[in-house]
Amino acid sequence: MTTSSDVIEDAPKANDDTQLPPATLGGEKKGSLEQFALLLFIVVPFLALGAAVPMVWGWGVSWLDLGLLVFFYFFACHGVTIGYHRYFTHGSFKAKRPLRIALAVAGSMAVEGPLVRWVADHRKHHKFSDAEGDPHSPWRYGETVPALMKGLWWAHIGWMFDEERTPQEKYAPDLIKDRTIRAISRQFIWWTVLSLALPALIGGLVTMSWWGAFTGFFWGSLVRVALLHHVTWSINSICHAVGKRPFKSRDRSGNVWWLAVLSCGESWHNLHHADPTSARHGVERGQIDSSARIIRWCEMFGWAYDVRWPSRSRIDSRRNAGEGGSRRGKEPAEAA
Ligand SMILES: [Zn+2]
Ligand SMILES: [Zn+2]
Repeated sequence: MTTSSDVIEDAPKANDDTQLPPATLGGEKKGSLEQFALLLFIVVPFLALGAAVPMVWGWGVSWLDLGLLVFFYFFACHGVTIGYHRYFTHGSFKAKRPLRIALAVAGSMAVEGPLVRWVADHRKHHKFSDAEGDPHSPWRYGETVPALMKGLWWAHIGWMFDEERTPQEKYAPDLIKDRTIRAISRQFIWWTVLSLALPALIGGLVTMSWWGAFTGFFWGSLVRVALLHHVTWSINSICHAVGKRPFKSRDRSGNVWWLAVLSCGESWHNLHHADPTSARHGVERGQIDSSARIIRWCEMFGWAYDVRWPSRSRIDSRRNAGEGGSRRGKEPAEAA
């Protein structure tokens, strides 16, 4: 049984009452303008993804476009998995200042929302995983098939439109206190602009044409963001509904092998819930985890230190007794 200390450790308490400025623009509730912007950001890349397939067969894609798509996909994906998730949310390693800032920027370029909000939501997800209070559990509506279908939609996309916001002072006081991090989080819109503009700029400059800029933008920005969104959201939906559960966790997180490459190692989600601060999620032989590999490189360069690599005994201590692998975690979450 995982104790709540795993999570409490992650979110240090504010030890003074000084009022800090918010780390995201807007208040505690989402306004209708923001809801609309969110809808736009979800729908437009999604339509681009739908239009992408017919374009592959014709004339609209070059090797450069595919290169931009792959490069910016994995750049931003690792920004989220290593930066937003393993470093800022769970503190699975310590980072020198330049790496800390680079991770905050790279993660912001995934267009998944401001850093501080993302971290606050995700810490809340771990605190209440698959129980009342979890912002995005697919089991929210119950266990029947229709309820699960509805729940999967909720966990994948619907939860982002919930008016309720996770209080950032409660869940991410450590980040709000850091001036630079707070500023990066507040300037989310500009990181979005940068992230969408760069592929177009490169495509245009390399081919010296407007058409090159357009296809660079289409593939490297729109299609890339849509794909990354769906893969990230799949961790919340698919990885909490299916997958093997060889490790002890109080929720229904599963290891989903076929998402490992695209999710940069995050789909070994059962291990992650069993040992949230571990810098490696794919702990078994052959379990691809590119994020862990890059953290290891950063450690070798001296940019990352105090990395929480899981020892063999620590991993073994978290295994399910039966090791059946697909046992469903029926027990409700403990009050954290
Ligand atoms: Zn989870
Ligand atoms: Zn996590």
